Amino acid sequence: MPIIPHDRGVAGRKPYSRTMAASSRTATGEATTDRTARRLRAVPPTVFSEMSALAVRTGSINLGQGFPDVDGPPSVIEAAVRALRTGRNQYAPGPGVPELRTAVAAHQARHYGLDLDPATEVVVTAGATEGIAASVLALVDPGAEVVVLEPFYDSYQACIEMAGGVRRPVTLRAPDFRLDAAALRAAVTPRTTTILLNTPHNPTGAVLTREELEAVAAVATEHDLVVVTDEVYEHLVFDGRRHVPLCTLPGMWERTVTLSSAGKTFSFTGWKVGWATGPADLVRTVTAAKQWLTFSNAAPLQPAVAYALDHESAFYDALAVELQGRRDLLVAGLRELDLDVYLPEATYFVATDVRRYGHADARAFCLALPERAGVVAIPSQAFYDDQVEGRHLVRWAFCKEPALIEQGVERLLAADLHA
Ligand code: PMP
Ligand code: GLN
Repeated sequence: MPIIPHDRGVAGRKPYSRTMAASSRTATGEATTDRTARRLRAVPPTVFSEMSALAVRTGSINLGQGFPDVDGPPSVIEAAVRALRTGRNQYAPGPGVPELRTAVAAHQARHYGLDLDPATEVVVTAGATEGIAASVLALVDPGAEVVVLEPFYDSYQACIEMAGGVRRPVTLRAPDFRLDAAALRAAVTPRTTTILLNTPHNPTGAVLTREELEAVAAVATEHDLVVVTDEVYEHLVFDGRRHVPLCTLPGMWERTVTLSSAGKTFSFTGWKVGWATGPADLVRTVTAAKQWLTFSNAAPLQPAVAYALDHESAFYDALAVELQGRRDLLVAGLRELDLDVYLPEATYFVATDVRRYGHADARAFCLALPERAGVVAIPSQAFYDDQVEGRHLVRWAFCKEPALIEQGVERLLAADLHA
């Protein structure tokens, strides 16, 4: 049955036409029509689905997609069950249930000395993923430029494309992946409206220092930019370092949207409960987009996340210590291989360079890895516009049980990984 687009004939809009769809040919020469809208054609499918499917298909150890293999606190699961059993199953208010917004504000006060109004300065999102999408769609006009740290989390690319914005990457380079303040400054043009920051940083594991954040703040204030800062790994920081939220720097509160999520902090990545905080005008703007994306999300999980924020800070303190040990385990193992290994300061991930194995292309290396070693990792090209800079880098996840990491390392050590 033909699909009739409902906007056909609406005044002022171009009617749908076949000529708008891109035509191409398959490998066998058959003509196909790609009906994907232009705004999505430039965006490849997410590498995480591809690599996790590869792990399942080949029975490999998945050191690719970042999710823990052990769930978060049982008390939080019980809080979710209580919510499910006590009638919290209809739509939550669009901006989130009051107890979660209050718990987020209390968390920001406890950890960072911030004084947020839960009613106007917090909005709950469907994971940080929706926080990113809503922020970018709400703040970036077509043609506007967005400065991003490269490598960038893959959804940044997709969301900027969907908004019609233009990426201006500032590359963090191995071995330390520090922010080059001059490069940041040079990336800003008269068309720049937004900086999309990420600290602690996925996939490099870098934690921006106060000096680096000051450089961001100086550029943002000088050019009157809004900063959207993705801080989902705020608690998963190692070696006594501390995460500093950009919004706590002088002059930054009024121009910063801060994103975080229960996924990483409480090891419930499948719950997709996140939040955006900031001044009321920016939170209102983000909510304006969020209301048309999901309206509201995860009603019974929101009170459980409020419970977690109020009662389970010991969980993420202990998780950071555990993850540091797992980082050390995986890094030691990878260092026995012929890889350059870059020690991460935070997150779930460690980056490596695979060139000493004769691989110029990390994607080819990762696609061969399941068959050669029964292990899956993520090629970092997916996070780069600059295909030269990212071509030889591979990201490995250590948010797994130590025995699994050990088994993964043993498999890698036993395999021939040379090109
Ligand atoms: N930002 C970064 C940097 C991430 O690594 C992830 C994955 N947790 C997300 C955003 C998405 O977070 P969520 O699962 O809460 O949507
Ligand atoms: N944030 C996780 C990672 O970087 C995965 C999230 C996802 O699968 N989209 O691996």
